[in-house]
Amino acid sequence: MSASNKFDAVIIGSGPNGLSAGILLAQHGLSVKIIEAKDTIGGGTRTQELTEPGFYHDVCSAVHPTGIGSPFLNTLPLQDHGLEWIHPDHPVAHPLEQGNAVIASLSLDETLQRLGKDGKNYENLVADFSKHWNKLSKDILGPIRIPHSPLLMAKFGWYGMLSAKLLANSIFDTTPLKAYFAGLAAHSILPLEKAFTASFGLAFAASIHSVGWPVAKGGSSTITNAMASYFKKLGGVIETGRYISTLSEIDESELFLFDLTPHQIASIAQHELPNSLKNKLLSYTYGPGVFKMDFALSEPVPWENPECSGAGTLHLGGTLEEISFSESQIWKGKQPDKPFVLVSQPSLFDRTRAPEGKHTLWAYCHVPNGSDEDCSEMIIKQIERFAPGFRDVILATHTMNAHEYEVYNPNYLGGDINGGSQSFKQLMGRPLLKWDPYQLPVKGMYICSSSTPPGGGVHGMCGYHAARSVLKNEYDINI
Ligand SMILES: Cc1cc2nc3c(=O)[nH]c(=O)nc-3n(C[C@H](O)[C@H](O)[C@H](O)COP(=O)(O)OP(=O)(O)OC[C@H]3O[C@@H](n4cnc5c(N)ncnc54)[C@H](O)[C@@H]3O)c2cc1C
Repeated sequence: MSASNKFDAVIIGSGPNGLSAGILLAQHGLSVKIIEAKDTIGGGTRTQELTEPGFYHDVCSAVHPTGIGSPFLNTLPLQDHGLEWIHPDHPVAHPLEQGNAVIASLSLDETLQRLGKDGKNYENLVADFSKHWNKLSKDILGPIRIPHSPLLMAKFGWYGMLSAKLLANSIFDTTPLKAYFAGLAAHSILPLEKAFTASFGLAFAASIHSVGWPVAKGGSSTITNAMASYFKKLGGVIETGRYISTLSEIDESELFLFDLTPHQIASIAQHELPNSLKNKLLSYTYGPGVFKMDFALSEPVPWENPECSGAGTLHLGGTLEEISFSESQIWKGKQPDKPFVLVSQPSLFDRTRAPEGKHTLWAYCHVPNGSDEDCSEMIIKQIERFAPGFRDVILATHTMNAHEYEVYNPNYLGGDINGGSQSFKQLMGRPLLKWDPYQLPVKGMYICSSSTPPGGGVHGMCGYHAARSVLKNEYDINI
């Protein structure tokens, strides 16, 4: 332990990755301070009354397969610090025309019974991965290295290296299953013709039937509040309301972990980094942005297919062809009229989110990076398409475009919520092509944000691996 005003390490940014890095270091006896620009901690996991008093909306993340399925978060006593997961009746629904829908339940058998003749194909593709999620998650939620489960990873890699479009068209016979797989793979925010987009569809399908897609009781902020509470119990210190512009403003430590993205690091550490490294960080690319809409509702969404009311998350975009067209348009910088819309309806399962009898709805679509277009009408139309009468239950709305997201959280450059494009190149070498991507090639500097493997999502695994790198390189501790 260092003198009281000095710390063994300072972490800039209190998102889930900053907090998990802080926790692992504190668990190993290091004194750690986290510095956060905003007045509240949590990065992409805050919950606020965005529309009307008493309606609690998740500003960013809402649904947490990677949170409940995180190999590191699962080792922490977060339940003792206020975290409670709530599972909806069904993790995911993908509604289609004429009241049809694919309903995916936690139970794979229950799901298969609904899938008809394509059920066997789905089972062959997904069953091994969902049955062995605990093993699979350890290999896919981290940097490239020798896998713990080589056979399972070989199978995952065999299918996962394909484009989602190719895999769906070659494995499934029916339009609904192809559409459903496209919806899962579209979480990559990549055109579905790109290699490796199938890996996102496979991982998300496996998580549905293993850990589920829960929401956090009270809102996503309870995840990082629980992490912060445990971090402080371990002796960690958090300072909020302090925006760091240059590294020279920090005199509390000489060891830094950045819960930031490469362009931010190139700016904050511009005097400490060699030009060659700065240029490499500045050549890192960001993906499309998001346009988000929160609703206060007088009653639940009137889905045409009643089973959709039991789903925590819904993917609205119609067929594989439609979703793939909309994602490729965005990649080209064009806004499609019918974007793929991701929806979550937490208040149906968590009564703390809205006043008695009322509801909240969370929805967003992908947009070109930096877009300031208002997509409200496009989102409402996509919901109306599968829930006629939806407009009549809207009490109030709140929107944030891609540009506003960057103002809200400087990590969302141009509205990119994943800390950088998840293209094949950047998935493998994130942020730099190195065996240890967390250690920057400058003394005492590490990156722990979602700009490192395994990328976006609330799982804390980027922070966990970055802290392991610190322990190994600075303290010779191997865990
Ligand atoms: C609309 C939307 C929906 C999403 N949905 C989901 C979902 O359902 N499930 C899911 O798992 N994930 C979701 N995500 C993604 C998830 O929120 C992020 O991947 C995750 O928060 C990344 O964590 P992080 O710790 O790397 O960075 P962040 O959570 O972005 O934290 C970075 C922190 O650093 C602070 N900071 C930045 N610059 C400075 C500075 N100069 N000085 C001091 N502090 C600074 C920021 O204020 C912020 O608190 C969503 C995101 C958005 C925006």
